[in-house]
Amino acid sequence: MLSIARHGWVTLGEQNTNGLPSNGIANLQEVIPLNYTDKQINCVDCGSAFVFTADEQAFFAEKGYANEPKRCLNCRRQKRSEKNDSSSAPRKMYDVVCNDCGQSCKVPFEPRLGKPVLCSDCYAAKNR
Ligand SMILES: [Zn+2]
Ligand SMILES: [Zn+2]
Repeated sequence: MLSIARHGWVTLGEQNTNGLPSNGIANLQEVIPLNYTDKQINCVDCGSAFVFTADEQAFFAEKGYANEPKRCLNCRRQKRSEKNDSSSAPRKMYDVVCNDCGQSCKVPFEPRLGKPVLCSDCYAAKNR
């Protein structure tokens, strides 16, 4: 037991004197995180410049959004409220004359010139 222990100490001592790494300083290659900086973007709706802040960019990256915002905050808000309005407000109806029965009726889409328009009755009859 004693001899083994002593041998062990000797080995350690040898390592301490001879086993030093030639270059003690390792290359510290840190993984540099993406640095976000505030970015100016021109709103596609109103054309005014707005700031896509570093915080927002980090937030977007975290959420996995690949696209940058295209609209300023105002337009985004407006867009949102428009969406809400259209879902609650009645659809815009267009006055047309039915191509089949000749009756004037209303359709929820804008009739195109040269395209036959059918009233809901004839449309239903055709697609029966
Ligand atoms: Zn805008
Ligand atoms: Zn009709």
